[in-house]
Amino acid sequence: MKEACGIFGLYSYDGDQLAKPTYYGLFSLQHRGQESAGIFASDGKRFTGKVGMGLVNVVFNSEESLKDIHGHIAIGHVRYSTTGSSVIANAQPIVVETKFGPVALGHNGNLINTDELRAEVHGYDFKGTTDSEVIAALIANSKEDDFETALISVLKKCRGAFSIIIMTLDKLIAVRDQHGIRPLSVGKMDQAYVISSETCGLDVVGAEFVREVAAGEMVILDKNGLRSSTWSRGEKEAFCVFEYIYFARPDSLRGGRSFHDVRVHLGKYLAKEQPADGAEMVIAVPDSGIPASMGFASEHKIPYSEGMIKNRYIGRTFIQPSQLMRDIGVKLKLNPIRDAIRGRKIVVIDDSIVRGTTSRQIVRLLRDNGAREVHLRISSPPILCPCFYGIDTATRSELIAANLSVEGIRKYVEADSLGYLSLKSLVKATNVPHDRLCQACLNGEYPVKAPERMQSLKLSGF
Ligand code: AMP
Repeated sequence: MKEACGIFGLYSYDGDQLAKPTYYGLFSLQHRGQESAGIFASDGKRFTGKVGMGLVNVVFNSEESLKDIHGHIAIGHVRYSTTGSSVIANAQPIVVETKFGPVALGHNGNLINTDELRAEVHGYDFKGTTDSEVIAALIANSKEDDFETALISVLKKCRGAFSIIIMTLDKLIAVRDQHGIRPLSVGKMDQAYVISSETCGLDVVGAEFVREVAAGEMVILDKNGLRSSTWSRGEKEAFCVFEYIYFARPDSLRGGRSFHDVRVHLGKYLAKEQPADGAEMVIAVPDSGIPASMGFASEHKIPYSEGMIKNRYIGRTFIQPSQLMRDIGVKLKLNPIRDAIRGRKIVVIDDSIVRGTTSRQIVRLLRDNGAREVHLRISSPPILCPCFYGIDTATRSELIAANLSVEGIRKYVEADSLGYLSLKSLVKATNVPHDRLCQACLNGEYPVKAPERMQSLKLSGF
């Protein structure tokens, strides 16, 4: 299971119409998952809500679709997964009946000991195949007398990445794993608290950022306000560096800085380390390469231009392999602005190369449309290792940088030159101390060691 989802929740002290703000929050987190979406609310007596497949505005496609969801607490989830597990039974929030009453749960991240934990569950009828449901089932199975103790004992068994939002009839709880691998923030409005995977979700509902949920922390919101408890102590923070490279929305903030600003700096360092002498123009692979391209251009003192236009209306389902897509390739999604590139020596910047498919198609597209030379620059180091914590990169055998040298990759993507950013500069641009970032995909140093079976699955073919 590979998931990188978005979670959002609200606890209100003066109203019970939370379906809409939760919808807005999820809408702003749509980039974190497009496979399914769901909202559940509690009015203190019962839950109302629904989940469905597809984008937020497909699942909730009218005022009508939200009107039966009400209560003073609400949580929502958008899910990203790879094909195979893309079924309604895996959509979240998951709702389970427990002796503590109904519990709804939304999870971002990936556990590495799911099989082990699943084997511990008894008398629970699994509806789907996610690790998130295993967490919910363990809570339902708990022998503890009170909900918070039950939750903590379950969390202590979980290994891997988990930012979780949980709703009971009268509480909203936000949790981050021991290492804080995936993001999660708390915000405040006049009469409500808000929890969001990223700060862009706080902005959309007009909430002020209060702070991040800390690694190993549990934040509890109830009628008495906000409480915090540390359920795990002593582990080192290891925030995912790929959130900085690609995943988080550029306008979201961490440590008071936007991801956009970090990415502009990635581009500046890239220009210093991997200049492209004599280049006449810098363009980006939209949208993920845009901030770094701007940084590269300003540092290199060459013009930045839009060079390709992305059609933003292509849903993920449309991008699934199909004969149509094979026939027209990348052209449906991206089209160059010919006047901008014709006859020019172009630097094109993307945030990352995973399998190499995108880069190869883009270099070809630029050449076919008249670029004289195409110099590819990547604002991250080579991705060498698979992620076990919820970023859907690939198995090792699919990762091009795990199998080819930089020169080998350059030949494969048919660029005139290829340059990657160094790991040292990437870390420097984030302003986060080196030992507080998970860089496993780039250096193979995993903060939580995955079991052999999982490793061999992901390392297959290598
Ligand atoms: P690839 O074509 O396999 O080399 O993938 C690289 C492209 O996919 C780049 O343009 C990235 O911006 C984008 N990308 C990187 N990581 C992901 C991810 N986890 N999910 C979707 N797209 C990604």
